[in-house]
Amino acid sequence: MQYQQLPLIPLQQVKLDFLEEKNIQLHVLREDLIHPTISGNKWRKLFYNLQEASNQGKNQLLTFGGAFSNHIAATAAAGNQFGFKIVGIIRGEEHLPLNSTLQLAVDNGMQLRYISRSLYKDEKYNPVFIEKLKNEVGDFYLIPEGGSNAFAVKGCTEIIKNIDIDYDIICCACGTGGTIAGIIAATDETKEIIGFPALKGGEFLKNDIQQLLADYQQQFLVEINHQNWRLNTDYHFGGYAKTSSELIDFVNDFYQNQTIPLDLIYTGKMLFGILHLAKTTAFFNGKKIVAIHTGGLQGNKGFDKIKLIF
Ligand SMILES: *Cc1c(COP(=O)(O)O)cnc(C)c1O
Repeated sequence: MQYQQLPLIPLQQVKLDFLEEKNIQLHVLREDLIHPTISGNKWRKLFYNLQEASNQGKNQLLTFGGAFSNHIAATAAAGNQFGFKIVGIIRGEEHLPLNSTLQLAVDNGMQLRYISRSLYKDEKYNPVFIEKLKNEVGDFYLIPEGGSNAFAVKGCTEIIKNIDIDYDIICCACGTGGTIAGIIAATDETKEIIGFPALKGGEFLKNDIQQLLADYQQQFLVEINHQNWRLNTDYHFGGYAKTSSELIDFVNDFYQNQTIPLDLIYTGKMLFGILHLAKTTAFFNGKKIVAIHTGGLQGNKGFDKIKLIF
């Protein structure tokens, strides 16, 4: 499998008076522009997994996700582009008509299978359940929920190669922690890395990130002992896929003033958090920050009654 030529990923500077007054430079790395349907970090997380699947001689992928999962949409699009059959195990019951995420997945050839929330939560990686799935759909290469494993971490180490300016701090939104693990692995300790979990009580992610870093080190025989990262768990807005009129207004204003579209689940919360901290604390004063736009804009369509201007 050939590494696809990626477009040039631009850095876009955020222009706001209060940033200038505090001598803060904020740049957004537009990873959302990486691919029209395999969005942002999901492209990074899938590439080496697909390569590994192909090295193992597998022609089918199977993965897990919720009905609005960016990972489900991206895996379907990537599997389609690189010639794999794809099965998506979806949490909960089928709802028809399909929402836009699942419709996109089906349009890309993904076979959907629904399992109960309790089975999803407790059994999805149980070898007995996996064996049963293999009997039903045929052999597959398993990509975990959210796509996060050692191969995903490797893919995400490549995100920072596109940063061609000097900087002090990298900010990144977190779901399962695979993306920030790659950034931690690739960044030297003179920089600081801050993760913004999109889930409530995101402290648990610390262990998950450490585990992903350990898996990555074991798989690729590298040694990393970077301590220059932490999580800010204050900007989850009530939890995963929870939103508020404040967040919606922010995302609309940000698009209007900066021409950068954000998603409501991850990048909107992160940028809200960065600008709130910049405005209300001295923490970022005099610093150069790069915020990673991890994509995920397809997820905005999942919010039926919300009006976004883009
Ligand atoms: C999936 C996703 C994330 C979370 O990435 P993890 O590697 O799971 O932490 C962040 N931002 C966007 C836009 C996503 O779609």
